[in-house]
Parts: sequence; C-alpha cells; structure tokens
Amino acid sequence: MIACMDAPTLAQRLLAGDRRALARAITLIEDDRPEGWELVREVYPHTGNAAVVGFTGPPGVGKSTLIGALTKARRLAGRTVGVLSIDPSSPFTHGALLGDRIRLSEHFLDQGVFIRSMANRGALGGLSEAALQTALLLDAAGRQDVFVETVGVGQAEIDIIDHADTIVLVLMPGSGDSIQALKAGVMEIPDVIVINKADHPLTDTMVREIRGVLSLANLDRTPEEVRGDWRVPIIKTEATRGKGVTELVARLEEHRAHILAAGQLDERRARNLRSEVLAIATSRMRRRLEEDIREDVEFQGLLEQVIQRRLDPASAATLLLDHAAMLERSVE
Ligand code: GDP
Repeated sequence: MIACMDAPTLAQRLLAGDRRALARAITLIEDDRPEGWELVREVYPHTGNAAVVGFTGPPGVGKSTLIGALTKARRLAGRTVGVLSIDPSSPFTHGALLGDRIRLSEHFLDQGVFIRSMANRGALGGLSEAALQTALLLDAAGRQDVFVETVGVGQAEIDIIDHADTIVLVLMPGSGDSIQALKAGVMEIPDVIVINKADHPLTDTMVREIRGVLSLANLDRTPEEVRGDWRVPIIKTEATRGKGVTELVARLEEHRAHILAAGQLDERRARNLRSEVLAIATSRMRRRLEEDIREDVEFQGLLEQVIQRRLDPASAATLLLDHAAMLERSVE
C-alpha cells in the first residue's frame, strides 16, 4: 500500500537542505515572483545561523579561485558551503557564467556545496534585493558558510557585501586603484585584506603600502568607526596552489569570534537589517510613484514647467509628493 502523505512543501524541503528546492526557490526570487517573497517570509525565522563572508575586489585578482580553495578547506572541516557570485555588469542570468566557472567546478558534484551566480536582472526589483533574499535562502537551507562574491570595488548598487558578517577585500600586487580607493575613503575599511598572487615580486611592497593606508585611516576615524579593537590582518595567498588559505580560514574564524565576543555581530546585523528594510521600502515607494505618475497629466504639466525653467526641480518634487499623498488618500 502506498502511504498517503502530503508532499512536503517547497519551504519544508528547503529547510531540510534539499538542493533542488534551494535552486528552485532562488529562481523564484530572481524572477521576482510572489511565491519567492512568500517563501522567504516562511523560512526567515530559521535564518541567522550561517557565517556570511563577503568578498570584494577588482576582476581578475583571484576571488573565485580563492573561494574555490576556501570551499575545499571548509568541506574538509566538515562544513557545508553556499557560494553566491554576483556580477552586475553581466547580461546573463540564471546561474550562467561566474558560478559555473572552472575554478569552482571541482565542487559541482559535492552535495555539501551549492553554487549560484546572479547577473543583472534589468528593471524589475533589483539585483541587490534579490541577492539579499538569496543569501537568506542559503542560510535557511542550512549552509554553514556562505561566501558572497561581487565583482568590482565600491559599487553602490551592490550593497550585499555590507550585509556580510565579515568583509574580505581581495587585491593583487599592482592593483593600485584599490589602494587609492581605500586611501580616499571611497571604500570602507574591510575586516580582512588578502593579497592574492603573492608569487608576484611586488607583494611585500604592496603589504607595506596597505599597512600605511590602514594606520592613516585609523587616525581620522572616531572610536565607533574603528571596528572594536580588531586589527585588520593582511594575508598573502596563492589561491591557485592553496597557499595561505589555512591562515585565511584562521583569520576568518578569529574575526567571527571577535565580533561575537564584542557583541558586534548582533549590532552589525541589526544595522544591516535596518538598511535592508529601508532599501526595500524605498524601491517599492519609487516603483509605486512611477506607476502613479506614468499617465498623470498633472505631473506632465509640472515637468513641463521645470523644463521651461518656470519651476525648480525641488519645488516640483514637493508638489509631486503632495499630489501623490492626495491621490493615496482619495484611493482610501
Ligand atoms: P576573479 O575575477 O577575482 O574571480 O579572479 P579569478 O579567480 O577568475 O582568477 C583570475 C586569474 O588569476 C585566473 O587565471 C587564475 O588562475 C589566476 N590566479 C588566481 N590566483 C592566483 C595566484 O595565486 N597566483 C597566480 N599567479 N595566478 C592566480
């Protein structure tokens, strides 16, 4: 006799760590489907357990190779891993490119490793929002380590990196632009700095340069801005040969222990969640506003006045908001 049991829901399968359920759930999020949001709502209480590490740095420095090596090390330690690669410049979507890169290919058959990449999704939603929801799904599915990789440094629209518990900046000898960005304060000081391709002769020069930037940066920051008494380590690695990876693992663990002990993990997460709520609300408000005014003659009239220099943009915005509030009241 066939047992008559209800099939488990997608959320249940996801929470049980089913990789196919996870892949399906992420696709729902990427496609901005209501079931995706519903799913995140359901599993959200089960999140908050993963150690999320964000990797940033210019293309070609070896982030993927490094994440591959790190994944290997974490698997050997018996931990499950989720990797999320984000490339805002790529027109490809649905798992193409980055995540499928040869560097991570040795992990494809390993059930303990889940790799996904995300590219630009055009106008709907936003890559950043989708990436944040995806990180939550990986967490809910029980991935103990979640590695998030983004291409490029200081890309304002990809703030997923800020939502990581630990932020790693990956550089290679000769990538002077990033040092300039750090120096100029364009980029926030990361928790850990990796100089990959340390087989390069200019590696030590670069380490010295970065030390200089870090000590200067600490001088003009307020105590709250300096991350506790955490001293940002600079680690030399050769990702292709796995050199320095053990030290990187040790520093990542140290950083996590440090922020846990200092109560900073909760603080950091609270701050990140606040900005996440605001970001989602802001993008929805913008979308709603754009829908409201699409065929609104009054708005066209306002815009016309701005174009003819009879009304300044700020006054037009004030009028627009008043008008939108009035419209909403009339709907109610
Ligand atoms: P990403 O764009 O930052 O993700 O960089 P990739 O991981 O794709 O690496 C870019 C290139 O650098 C690849 O050809 C890697 O094989 C190479 N590479 C990565 N790590 C090292 C390293 O430690 N030493 C050397 N010489 N090459 C490396």
